[in-house]
Amino acid sequence: MNQTQTSTGTLFVVSAPSGAGKTSLLRKLMSDFSQIETAVSHTTRAKRDGERDGVDYHFVSPETFKSLIEQDEFFEYAEVFGNFYGTGKASIKEQLQQGIDVILEIDWQGARQIRQQQPESRSIFILPPSKEALEERLVGRGQDDDAVIAKRMLAAQDEMSHYSEYDYLIINDDFATALDELRAILLAERQNLSRQQQKYAHLLSNLLE
Ligand code: 5GP
Repeated sequence: MNQTQTSTGTLFVVSAPSGAGKTSLLRKLMSDFSQIETAVSHTTRAKRDGERDGVDYHFVSPETFKSLIEQDEFFEYAEVFGNFYGTGKASIKEQLQQGIDVILEIDWQGARQIRQQQPESRSIFILPPSKEALEERLVGRGQDDDAVIAKRMLAAQDEMSHYSEYDYLIINDDFATALDELRAILLAERQNLSRQQQKYAHLLSNLLE
């Protein structure tokens, strides 16, 4: 087939408690597929060691964040752990129009806002296999002290309590299995009827004329 094949990309929202393995899973998914990108959020939190501005986040001051809210630049924004996080509108719309699937790694509050504004988006929640495993993963990072870990465990429970608002649920016990499940969701969404109708409009009209 040599006609141009384009369709609008799917907007995926992925949430998980800190320590569920979301970032590693998504990194692998992105390296295995083309036409899929993660959006870079804005945040007012301090940069961690190894993080890069414009790559991991757009790190901005609370004043800048506030003015972006006033200029209606965000699809959604929320306060998480005392800092502000938000998804900018501009680049995402463009990526979707180019047929690129876009992944938003955001919390349950942001997911709710996206679901309301973009009912055709798809949301995925990733859970750890047990509370012990979650705690182990949080400690294993070696980045935070005990008080921070205890606070993160509480926050994780709060985040996990919203899993049933999502379209898909993945339990990340075995990495390869969880990755397969994530791939299955992406592939199924890519074969969605209305998306395929857009992409193959020319073929469909040829076949049926
Ligand atoms: P971290 O500071 O550990 O990178 O992220 C903390 C939390 O903020 C995670 O639950 C993450 O999903 C969430 N988060 C990151 N970016 C955004 C965003 O743009 N919007 C919302 N609502 N949450 C975000």
